[in-house]
Amino acid sequence: MAAGDRRPNPSTNDRLRPRRQVARRPAPLHGRTVQTLAALFRRPGAPASIETIALDAPGPTEALVRVVAAGLCHTDYHVMRGDRRVAMTPMVLGHEAAGIVEQVGAQVAGVAVGDHVVLTFIPGCGVCHWCGKGLHHLCAQGPRITQGPQLDGTYRRRDHAGADVGAFCMVGGFAERTVVDQASLVVIEKAIPFDLASLVACCVPAGVGAARNRARVAKGDSVLVVGCGGDGMNVVQGAKLCGATTIIAADIAPLKRDLARDFGATHVLDAEGDTLVAAVLKLTEGRGVDHSFVCIDPPNTLPPAFRATARAGNVVVTGLSAATSAVLPIPPLELVTSQKAIMGAVYGFASPRVQIPELLALYEAGKLKLRELITRTYRLAEINQGYADLAAGRNLRGVILFDP
Ligand SMILES: [Zn+2]
Ligand SMILES: [Zn+2]
Repeated sequence: MAAGDRRPNPSTNDRLRPRRQVARRPAPLHGRTVQTLAALFRRPGAPASIETIALDAPGPTEALVRVVAAGLCHTDYHVMRGDRRVAMTPMVLGHEAAGIVEQVGAQVAGVAVGDHVVLTFIPGCGVCHWCGKGLHHLCAQGPRITQGPQLDGTYRRRDHAGADVGAFCMVGGFAERTVVDQASLVVIEKAIPFDLASLVACCVPAGVGAARNRARVAKGDSVLVVGCGGDGMNVVQGAKLCGATTIIAADIAPLKRDLARDFGATHVLDAEGDTLVAAVLKLTEGRGVDHSFVCIDPPNTLPPAFRATARAGNVVVTGLSAATSAVLPIPPLELVTSQKAIMGAVYGFASPRVQIPELLALYEAGKLKLRELITRTYRLAEINQGYADLAAGRNLRGVILFDP
């Protein structure tokens, strides 16, 4: 600090001056609590609340990340509406984020200050049964992502009243800055634009991976995708990457049906229920598709998708349901005699640590569309407008951009 900076300033409270001056310099962030603007979930049904919260310095295995871009995924909207319950409030939402590492704890390895990172919505703890096999998407800590605290069980955020603030998915990406465990970080190449990088945090691996890793779509296969939002549109392009020759995309929104053709759909349908089943059977010589993907509203869309799937085919569910919809109306006898498989997929059924660099390489090779997924961008203060646009079917993906 220059000596001149310490000159008394009559317009400033002397007691506060040293702290305010230090806070403007990047280096003194170390070890300090900073203020950060964040979008908070306070109660179901209420809009996201934009508030300044206190963010503590990272612990030994954590990093402070300046968020540059964060995608508006449907999952956060499920939480806001109360369809997906979280264990506490308030909580910083946002789990589809990319940014720059500003500070790391003493035990952090493989991530350095200045690195560009994608934040993963399931931490790969590295020590559990699943992480030991490289299956970070199945990490034993995964079920804790709706709880609120950090991976170590403590909190780094507080609101204006001093109450602990949770971080959804241990990410809390709808904030200017966040503190996450190194288990939630994947370092990426600096040439990748942050808005595109944020998409490979969730919807791109979720969709492309469901086709490639869960259903294992093969050359010449037929595919039905029900719900062409962030996940579904990436199933469409994932199926195309796998060489599927019939890709039927079903969505009630005209925008998404139009876009689905650009992403590789060979047929688009504006149909639901029995009408959907009849249309798919007609397109597949009465057999049904080899693989169907249920990317929205499974309680209502899984039964017709099951009926529209061929014998020995796969039905992959990626869409979330309300916790209360516990029963799927699938006839057990038909399940056996048709020899179909119903399977769930989270994070594209493969480790985000493996998938994220791989997907970004596919993008750089011109084989994966990322820019085309973004309909429009928002400031953090416009987050509720962003979710209104998502709910109205106006967006394929909205992305929040933070000030540089
Ligand atoms: Zn998501
Ligand atoms: Zn683990």
